[in-house]
Amino acid sequence: MPTDVSDAPRVEELYQALEQRVRTLRPHEDISALKRAFEFALEHHRHQRRKSGELYITHPLAVANLLVDMDMDPVCIQTGLLHDTVEDVKSVTIEQIRDAFGTDVARCVDGVTKLNKIGFASRDDRQAESLRKMLLAMTSDIRVIIVKLADRLHNMRTISSLARERQIAIAQETLEIYAPIAHRLGMGKIRGELEDLSFQTLEPEAAAELLREIESKRQENEEWLRQIRTQIEQKLAREDIPARVDGRVKRAYSVYQKLKRQKIPLDQVYDLLALRIITDSVKNCYAALGVIHNEWHPIPGRIKDFIAMPRPNLYQSLHTSVIGPGGIAVEVQIRTAEMHRIAEEGIAAHWKYKEGAKGPGEEDQRIAWLRQLVEWQREMRDSADFMSTLKLDLYPEDVYTFTPRGRVIALPRNATPIDFAYSIHTDVGNTCVGAKVNGVIKPLKYALRNGDVVEILTQPGHQPSKDWLAIVKTARARNKIKHFINAAERAKAVEIGQKSLEKEARRLGVNLGRISQDDLASVASEYGVAKTEDLYAGLGFGKYSARQILQKVAPEEVEAAPAVPVPPVRPTPAPGTAFGDGDLAIHVKGIDDVLVYRAKCCNPIRGEQIVGYITRGKGIAVHSVQCPNVQNLLYDAERRIDVDWARSAHEPLPVKIVIYTDDRPGILHQLTSILSSEATNIRTLEARTDEKRGDESAVVDITIDVRDKKQLERVITSFRRIPGVRDIERVPTTQ
Ligand code: MN
Repeated sequence: MPTDVSDAPRVEELYQALEQRVRTLRPHEDISALKRAFEFALEHHRHQRRKSGELYITHPLAVANLLVDMDMDPVCIQTGLLHDTVEDVKSVTIEQIRDAFGTDVARCVDGVTKLNKIGFASRDDRQAESLRKMLLAMTSDIRVIIVKLADRLHNMRTISSLARERQIAIAQETLEIYAPIAHRLGMGKIRGELEDLSFQTLEPEAAAELLREIESKRQENEEWLRQIRTQIEQKLAREDIPARVDGRVKRAYSVYQKLKRQKIPLDQVYDLLALRIITDSVKNCYAALGVIHNEWHPIPGRIKDFIAMPRPNLYQSLHTSVIGPGGIAVEVQIRTAEMHRIAEEGIAAHWKYKEGAKGPGEEDQRIAWLRQLVEWQREMRDSADFMSTLKLDLYPEDVYTFTPRGRVIALPRNATPIDFAYSIHTDVGNTCVGAKVNGVIKPLKYALRNGDVVEILTQPGHQPSKDWLAIVKTARARNKIKHFINAAERAKAVEIGQKSLEKEARRLGVNLGRISQDDLASVASEYGVAKTEDLYAGLGFGKYSARQILQKVAPEEVEAAPAVPVPPVRPTPAPGTAFGDGDLAIHVKGIDDVLVYRAKCCNPIRGEQIVGYITRGKGIAVHSVQCPNVQNLLYDAERRIDVDWARSAHEPLPVKIVIYTDDRPGILHQLTSILSSEATNIRTLEARTDEKRGDESAVVDITIDVRDKKQLERVITSFRRIPGVRDIERVPTTQ
């Protein structure tokens, strides 16, 4: 569809008016970028129209005008013109915007585009709070929010041309998300208008009735306000207090809320009418308050000193309500001109365009504003929430993700789908096998990002892995996984303990059937544990021996039994992976059925000399004799125990190695082909360039299953022969 030529002169006129306003406000500014932004937007919205039938370009022009009203900087105004180009027109990319208008404008346009992609509409109040936080967290530049608020204000002003359903959704979102954000950022003026427009859209009858009622008393009210204003002005002048006095009828939405909250008719609203005294100093604010209270009776409980105690959004003012002439109540707000500016514009006041001030000074002022917030926050408990929101804005520490049904799940930075799963439900976490993020399968260690929609894939009977502990970021997930693993290990230890007691009893000729539960329970309490089950667990973990226990419950039979030595027994293979590697290839001399595991620090493999160490309650850790930890661990000679590789079992064991290489193509292929010729299973492989070293080097982390030391040596020797391999290191598997 070609551009309707009849609209063209009007659009040009609209732009000229905008340009003229900028020229007047900032006579020295170069407006070439402004003009280019307009032409860019015009070109890209050429074929689009708004629902009202107007050319689309009128919307960005209106948004830009609102930003000029707020006296925003050139980046903001250009963003206002360009804010819908990336979203509405597929052919425009952020890169194009960056090339044409620089990184600041590109960042802001990108930010607004991202916000537009997320539907914040929500039926749930608790969710609204998370959504507001999320919106702030997603924003790296506060100008994104300012442009977005201007965008929303113009959309609300022109909402009548949309279908009723869209109107309701947009108005609701405005009331729940955008108006409160404007409030938090102290932008009272925009907030008021957003609220009133939403109110009129959502409850047209109630709004119309209220406005009619207010309108019917307009003349009366205005006359009354005029009189009291004149009186106040005279009295202040007499006291030498310079002041401007404004009178107004309060905003419809705030009056409506009051009517609803207090269930009263309009004529009982205390402060439908409001006066504002703007003076020059804090001292004169208090002086003016004195003048007012001297003349009219203050209503008890209505005096508020927001100068001494500013609101969390930095609002400062004195408030009082007095009974004015004719017994009519009126609220009086008293503040300095500077306080008034902050009350109306909030954070935008600090982003105002300042000619020539592009240096660090500008930044200082913003930082000062934040510092002030922090100061005040110390004195004000209820602002904690606001502060944490603001902190997110500056240091985005959290990510906000969604369930497929749209519930917000807030997680710390770099949280994984596992954290997400546990924050939904422990069972979801425990049985989690995978995750779809935005519809695409992602690994469980994937770092979630703001706005991700996460669907957890579960499988009944699946169990959490110890490896998860290394990747989760939330304490909740970590505790739940630990809890699960401990419970599983304990169950296994109980089983092993029970079996080992039976076996030892058989060997010593003790009839376990004749030993009562009471006797076992008393042994348990002798060992300081509560139940017989705990006794078995201790046995399974190698805390005490089966013989010791039997000696207590059946001393005569144990005495009569043939003396040791008995041939060493290999531990019963324990299925499953709850113990890490399953390590049944190791044979412990002299002790029967105890949990054995390969120490993660050295990960010994068959063929290497090994030594066992009895841990306190975790079974026997098997280290390589060469392991540096062994020297430290084995100072306690009593805990040392001889272990050996079992002859029968030959299952391969995992070993992790790190290979430092030149960063050149083909190396990975050579590595993997060596492994496949060795028939070695690769568990994990991860290659990356080595930024620390800076030169053309790469690092390959690889975990492989090897049968024994000889095989590992063969593999490493072959690796070393590959041209470009610089160094090879064997490392702990947990690293
Ligand atoms: Mn827009």
